[in-house]
Amino acid sequence: MTWPSSVGERRGGPAPVAAAPGAGRDVTAAARRLLREVYGYAEFRGSQEAIIAQVLGGGDALVLMPTGGGKSLCYQLPAMIRAGVGLVVSPLIALMQDQVAALKPLGVRAAFLNSTVPHAEQGIVLNAARSGQLDLLYLAPERLLQEHTLAALAGARVALIAIDEAHCVSQWGHDFRQDYLGLDVLAERFPGVPRLALTATADAATREEIVARLALPRARRFVSGFDRPNIHYAVRARTRRPQDQLGEFLKGHAGKAGIVYAMTRKRVEQTAAMLCERGVDALAYHAGLPAGERAAHQARFLREDGVVMVATIAFGMGIDKPDVRFVAHIDLPKSVEAYYQETGRAGRDGAPADAWMVYGLQDVARLAQLIDQSQAGDQHKRVERQRLDALLGWCEVTTCRRRALLAHFGDALDADCGNCDTCLDPPRTWDGTEAAQKLLSCVYRTGQFLGAGHVINVLRGKDTPKVRRRRHERLSTFGIGAELSAVQWRSVLRQLLVRGYARTDAERYGALSLTAKARPLLRGEERIELREDTALRRPEPASRQPSALPPDTPPALWEALREERRRLAEAANVPPFVVFHDATLREMAHVRPASPEALLQLHGVGRAKLERYGAAFLAVLRRWEEATGTGAAARTGPPLTSAAMPATMPDT
Ligand code: ADP
Ligand code: ZN
Repeated sequence: MTWPSSVGERRGGPAPVAAAPGAGRDVTAAARRLLREVYGYAEFRGSQEAIIAQVLGGGDALVLMPTGGGKSLCYQLPAMIRAGVGLVVSPLIALMQDQVAALKPLGVRAAFLNSTVPHAEQGIVLNAARSGQLDLLYLAPERLLQEHTLAALAGARVALIAIDEAHCVSQWGHDFRQDYLGLDVLAERFPGVPRLALTATADAATREEIVARLALPRARRFVSGFDRPNIHYAVRARTRRPQDQLGEFLKGHAGKAGIVYAMTRKRVEQTAAMLCERGVDALAYHAGLPAGERAAHQARFLREDGVVMVATIAFGMGIDKPDVRFVAHIDLPKSVEAYYQETGRAGRDGAPADAWMVYGLQDVARLAQLIDQSQAGDQHKRVERQRLDALLGWCEVTTCRRRALLAHFGDALDADCGNCDTCLDPPRTWDGTEAAQKLLSCVYRTGQFLGAGHVINVLRGKDTPKVRRRRHERLSTFGIGAELSAVQWRSVLRQLLVRGYARTDAERYGALSLTAKARPLLRGEERIELREDTALRRPEPASRQPSALPPDTPPALWEALREERRRLAEAANVPPFVVFHDATLREMAHVRPASPEALLQLHGVGRAKLERYGAAFLAVLRRWEEATGTGAAARTGPPLTSAAMPATMPDT
């Protein structure tokens, strides 16, 4: 029969190992074997093995693991081992397509069902699931919940059900999906089938919501730390030339893939254009672009090396690209949760990556304004306001940024991380009591209905038409703050707003007013330490990311291997990392294996990939050895061709 394009064919993959639930250690051994043979990985990471054992034993699981932690393996492996098809509920079409595309070259029989699959193919896919020809079937929630689909799958043997991005059930969360609320029926419709709920973002309350809404009362919980130690966090005060700041930052990342987040479509387009002018391969992405253009930009980002995507938050969920080297925010995200999710897209491959952000006084006022003016109810506004405050507070921390970030998620680090801006370049603080008093009294004296610009002009004794019109040159606070620049005053004001000594009123064009908290400070009963803005005192430090290659690796060989990867990826119509990750290619250039057996030892090379791509890469390595005269004599043998490969495969 001819398979529809959404079904992955099994090619040289492992024979399915059917195991009775509860078979214990034996099946974990089977999982270990598949880990090596299918994925080419030597060891399980963190709690992967325990989760797999739980599912193989027939139990449910709630899995919290940071992005890049390796959640997919936790259901992919048991789905291959247990008899029947593993159903994977995934909220995004792009995500499931990518997963299936990445599973195919591993020899795993995977398919997906969503609105993009033509009607005629849907029946074929469901039949394949029913007749035991699929290891994994990815479905959009609304597709799975259709009575037609449920009925069809009732006749199938189901190995397990995995619900990915499980936090989408949370109505308070930013990724809420109505369809997720119906997923509790799976408990009734598939009794006895182990179910896993997986997510990278869930505070304690969201976890309870997941367990309740997905009917998982007996799920064992696996909560991994949230830390992403390879990500370096930095937040800087925005200067008057944020584009130069971004340009400087990107200089440390030339030729690397990354995402720049901006709040509005206009900012996205302007920034992308500015970067292109500066020679960066930048593309724009936002909901206002035609669907075709969006898809084309996303495809280029995934498939080519070193593309920078400038995007609104419309971009990113379900982007599984492992080698994103930086995520930059030129506008504040909505909350700490959103920030963590967005920056989590960097460095999934475990190699060093940067999370970089600039923010300024305007962000504070604008976001507060958005909340105030939204149609939401008071309760909702209060929650949003708290979220914003938590984020702003984090921006201004003077202690280890990672510790503060993890603490927000209830995760404690034992020591400072040594890989964030405050650890590496401790912020200087200064006694800002007097400055704060001057500023707050000037807000008071000018009547608490004027904006930041005017108040600062009065403080600095500026002779402007507005000052004259309001006769503010006669105030006692006129000119008492000439010792600080306007930029410095904005920094003081920003910190006072963030810490709740003053507020801006959106309804009155950002009018500043004092809060009750201002009193003790004004009376001199309290002192305040302010943070010196780093951006104001030194240029952007160069990135500490090491170069892509180990020191003794010939760049020419590295380039040749990358070129081969690009060629193979293009031929198979998949992103390059689906062929091999950078880490595998680096090891290849470093170790220079001369035989299939040696190639199989590399991280990320399993049997199916060896069979598919081994000959091509060994040929590149051989050509290179011959051209450079290194070790060619020792390594002469029969010419390597694809056809010769299976015969030379090691027996295990
Ligand atoms: P998540 O879904 O948790 O964000 P993935 O499942 O996409 O993470 O895994 C992230 C990366 O880590 C993938 O490239 C995956 O192949 C790799 N990975 C997962 N488990 C292991 C392991 N045990 N050893 C090595 N690499 C692993
Ligand atoms: Zn730190």
